[in-house]
Amino acid sequence: MFFYFDPTYILIVPALIFAMWAQVRVNTTFRKYLRVFASSNYTGAQVARYLLDAHGLQNVKVEMARGNLTDHYDPRTRVLRLSQPVYSSTSVAALGVAAHETGHAVQNAENYIPLGIRNNLFPIANFGSQAALPLFFIGLLFANPTLMDIGIWFFIAALVFQVVTLPVEFNASRRALGMLTEAGFLSQDERPKAKEVLSAAALTYVAAVAVSAMNLLRLFVLRDSRRR
Ligand SMILES: [Zn+2]
Repeated sequence: MFFYFDPTYILIVPALIFAMWAQVRVNTTFRKYLRVFASSNYTGAQVARYLLDAHGLQNVKVEMARGNLTDHYDPRTRVLRLSQPVYSSTSVAALGVAAHETGHAVQNAENYIPLGIRNNLFPIANFGSQAALPLFFIGLLFANPTLMDIGIWFFIAALVFQVVTLPVEFNASRRALGMLTEAGFLSQDERPKAKEVLSAAALTYVAAVAVSAMNLLRLFVLRDSRRR
């Protein structure tokens, strides 16, 4: 991250507070429902295995990952990695997260279009998110509008990636809740609890978009103030 403090920084402060609040909320919600055990009594790993098999994805492996909230599906190696608390717990939080990651594996198998767009955008967005601010501020420092504009375009590429991530995440959670209730892993009164965990996680992606959008606005303000 490239820090440059100036009065326009105030633009992104509310978004940063929102992002911090969303982060605290996902942690507290996850911990709360890690102590609420589902009556079905299956672990996150067992549920992921069952749901993958039910979708003909026997070739996707389920492994344990280090750390907290590090759960993800790796489409290149076709491995679903669940963090230790999710892997071995029978809680509604664990089942929700395990099924959400399974949802990503199913999206991948079904060539879900927003996921394809997201994967294609990844290289440029990844480079853009690192290069955008250094390029912009070097341009600002040397009063070079072309460099500032290139920085802004890279920043827009990174923002578009974050926006396309939203439907991918919402869809994975919707699939997760459907699969869990359909297969009987969650009862009707357990479903809203798992939903609360997944909604809290989704909000962190919304907050990331808000921070980037306000950052982009800040770049426009800085560029135009330098032009005048
Ligand atoms: Zn996800």
